[in-house]
Amino acid sequence: MSERTFTIIKPDSVEKGNTGKIIAHLEGEGFTILAGRMTHLSRTQAQGFYAVHKERPFYNDLVAYMTSGPVWVMALERDQAVPTLRKVMGATNPADADEGTVRKLYGESIERNAIHGSDSPENAAIEIGFFFPASDLA
Ligand code: ATP
Ligand code: MG
Repeated sequence: MSERTFTIIKPDSVEKGNTGKIIAHLEGEGFTILAGRMTHLSRTQAQGFYAVHKERPFYNDLVAYMTSGPVWVMALERDQAVPTLRKVMGATNPADADEGTVRKLYGESIERNAIHGSDSPENAAIEIGFFFPASDLA
């Protein structure tokens, strides 16, 4: 069944000129782009987006990294979009990611790991709503 998910092409990817390759990779895996734009997260946005990690030791560095430069935010659609994107992304630490995954190909460290993907359909809906008005998805 068709499902939506949300992705962020993270600052390290944009900085290195990997945006187009990552978008092509996602399209090649059958994702349709419903909405997308470049943006630069504010501190407040990044803190809110990763609020679930606010007690973790890496939280302040994560917020600094996610606000260090522009990102691309996108709403994606395909069947099983959420689990499929997680598989296509690869493990959080690129060193542990399977060959051919986005993080293996383009990530450089557990922090600078190229891409974000929603971890559930519920969070995907929240994250899409955080960046796109419903009129962008019609
Ligand atoms: P994301 O939520 O960005 O898709 P994820 O779900 O694979 O990634 P999370 O556990 O949600 O992983 O961590 C969110 C982000 O925080 C990671 O993608 C990474 O950038 C950073 N991060 C996670 N663990 C660490 C760590 N141990 N040290 C430094 N940064 C980390
Ligand atoms: Mg996560």
